[in-house]
Amino acid sequence: MNYGAIEAGGTKMVCAVGDENGKFLDRAIFPTTTPSETIKLIIDYFKNKDISAVGIACFGPVDLDKSSKTYGYITSTPKRGWENFDIVGTVKRELGVPVGFDTDVNGSLLGEATYGCAKGVSDAIYITVGTGIGGGVMVNGKLLHGMLHPELGHMRIGKRDSDQGKSVCPFHDDCFEGLASGPSIESRWGKKADLLADDESVWKLEAEYIGTALVNYCMCLSPKKIILGGGVMHQKQLFPLIRKVFKEKNNGYISTELTRNLDEYIVPASLNDDQGILGALKLAMDAD
Ligand code: ADP
Ligand code: ZN
Repeated sequence: MNYGAIEAGGTKMVCAVGDENGKFLDRAIFPTTTPSETIKLIIDYFKNKDISAVGIACFGPVDLDKSSKTYGYITSTPKRGWENFDIVGTVKRELGVPVGFDTDVNGSLLGEATYGCAKGVSDAIYITVGTGIGGGVMVNGKLLHGMLHPELGHMRIGKRDSDQGKSVCPFHDDCFEGLASGPSIESRWGKKADLLADDESVWKLEAEYIGTALVNYCMCLSPKKIILGGGVMHQKQLFPLIRKVFKEKNNGYISTELTRNLDEYIVPASLNDDQGILGALKLAMDAD
């Protein structure tokens, strides 16, 4: 049986057809322009592919509450044209198959939990550090939604006194995304993050912010694994620095077998940047 997977992002839509083993048979990428243009490309792509369900891991905020009138909508996004857009309803109507739906970051976490480094782990979080910062949360084997869905990127983490930069979040002057996302690195240091690989002070400060956020997530969500993905995390030198900050800030308080082995506890995403599309595929398999 084949399924459709959509990783819906603010700049591009990754669409793929895969089977129940997580094997992809085909894939296409479309730019995210207006909903009418982009959705038409997506529908045309899937139309004759004989898929039995679609999964969408979507940028947000989104409405995940099945009892809500606007379930399946992208809600208050700053992405122009997409606010209050019924993405689930539109895909369901046009393709006539069940549609599974969750946030992009919950999708990535589901991908890792099904096929990657969080296989068999009941409680885990996935953080992406890219254009924005977001996080997916799994508790007792289920993706956490709550009132809306967790917005881990907007946790207030406090700006370091030595930091001459300014938060890039329009809502918060000291949130994680505002201080540590790719655009925040670029605005502080005047160069794109990938061009700063050799500058130690960039990654020391970045690790300070990421490590602080992770300690906070550890305290309030008690994950058994913390997975870090997104463009900025391609800087592999960050990992030892982050673990060091985590260790210092935890200061021995949470002391379990897992937190005593941080190399296994705080890990990079394991699926070659396919975690999102694999999660979307699993959302399709689970759709009803
Ligand atoms: P998005 O978040 O838009 O889905 P990415 O996860 O690739 O996409 O994040 C893009 C951000 O990550 C940009 O700010 C970019 O500068 C930064 N980035 C991309 N690749 C790297 C890299 N190799 N090293 C550091 N930063 C990177
Ligand atoms: Zn914010």
